[in-house]
Amino acid sequence: MGGAPAALTRRLEAVAYGLGFDAFGVAALGEPATRAHFDAWLDAGRHGGMTYLAGHGAELRRDARRPHPGATHAVVVAASYGGREPSGPVARYARGDDYHEVLRERVRALHHWLEAELGHPINARPYVDSGPVLERDLAQRAGLGWFGKNTMLITPHAGSFVFLASLFVELALAPSAPFEADRCGTCTRCLDACPTGALPAPRVLDANRCISALTIEWRDAIPEALRRVRAAGAVRWRGDARRHARTGAGDSDDGPR
Ligand code: SF4
Repeated sequence: MGGAPAALTRRLEAVAYGLGFDAFGVAALGEPATRAHFDAWLDAGRHGGMTYLAGHGAELRRDARRPHPGATHAVVVAASYGGREPSGPVARYARGDDYHEVLRERVRALHHWLEAELGHPINARPYVDSGPVLERDLAQRAGLGWFGKNTMLITPHAGSFVFLASLFVELALAPSAPFEADRCGTCTRCLDACPTGALPAPRVLDANRCISALTIEWRDAIPEALRRVRAAGAVRWRGDARRHARTGAGDSDDGPR
């Protein structure tokens, strides 16, 4: 069975929810709406030690058609990782099997379904928090949520406690309406709460001050001024810091972060 893009997209959405995803959308690939924001962030050196985000990695991220040649659309999905569970020594996102593997299998299932439905191979590639992709930008354009002041993609139903994943496909699908609203309003709680001041302005993460980045990405000695707060809060704060304060602007090109 084939079908027009809109009908095929509707059936694919039903399959995605059947696989356990909590949000679904489609974005046509092109230049990210947040490209200027991304460039300004890099120019200011806010990416800290994450040098893979600059140079060639940045070039790929500046146009979503570049990471996987031939792809025209991205199927974007989100999966909640338990934002209502209590906090603890192990971050919520890490309480279970490696989400990269779990979600990559689910995204591959979408690919397999499309091929079976259309009866021919489809050029496609899954991305799960890896690869030179501005996933948050794609997710906003696919209608999943808004770009919060905490720098994360926030979904209306599951907040920012979600994994984002995508399937880049060379296939005509029906793009979703972008999520245009900014539901943060006048709230600044995340900026006020960050113990190291790693959110110097709405939607700006300074990875040089981010406990999560210092814990996971930093390869040099941690700056003296940040050691005490990191030591006091890193264990409990690590996961939430990662959720709240990470750029979401993409990660290493060679695998899970
Ligand atoms: S804490 Fe407030 S400002 Fe920050 S992301 Fe959440 S709603 Fe937006």
